[in-house]
Amino acid sequence: MSVLPVKDPSQARAAAEQIPWPQKSPASCPISAVKTRLRNAGLRPTRQRMALGWLLFAKGDRHVSAEMLYEEALRAREPLSLATVYNTLRQFSEAGLLRQVSVSGPKTFFDTNVSEHHHFYNEDDETVVDIPGSEIQVSGLPVAPEGMMISSVEVIVRLRNADGAEVEARVATGAGHHA
Ligand SMILES: [Zn+2]
Repeated sequence: MSVLPVKDPSQARAAAEQIPWPQKSPASCPISAVKTRLRNAGLRPTRQRMALGWLLFAKGDRHVSAEMLYEEALRAREPLSLATVYNTLRQFSEAGLLRQVSVSGPKTFFDTNVSEHHHFYNEDDETVVDIPGSEIQVSGLPVAPEGMMISSVEVIVRLRNADGAEVEARVATGAGHHA
């Protein structure tokens, strides 16, 4: 299996920072945009969901852990428990508003960009940066087990600071049932 080509991380970061929502539509009110986003996903816009939805979706695409979001809610004077943050993140994920990205062991980030793409993971500062889906081609995938089909392939390119900048790629293959 080969993964190519890995481009300069700064390019992916620059691409990730060119985030459209909601900056590209200054006429729309971000709060009502969050409410609409929740409603469209079939979620009632409760105060807790609105507060977390605002933190998640009003600043463009982001990758946050439950702990990061909990800290942000505290700073924003939203008295939510960590359990509530976890539950809300799970509900948002099940509703298709977030995508979960597992980078190492139990560490999970919640990605507001639910389109198909890949990630750089910086092991030194534990940050995640998008790699556009078009920038990586995966070849030589194995045939899925009988009765299964490959539903998606996500690549996590792990980074660490080192002379010569060694880069490892880990490919996570998701297999799903035939439709
Ligand atoms: Zn992402």
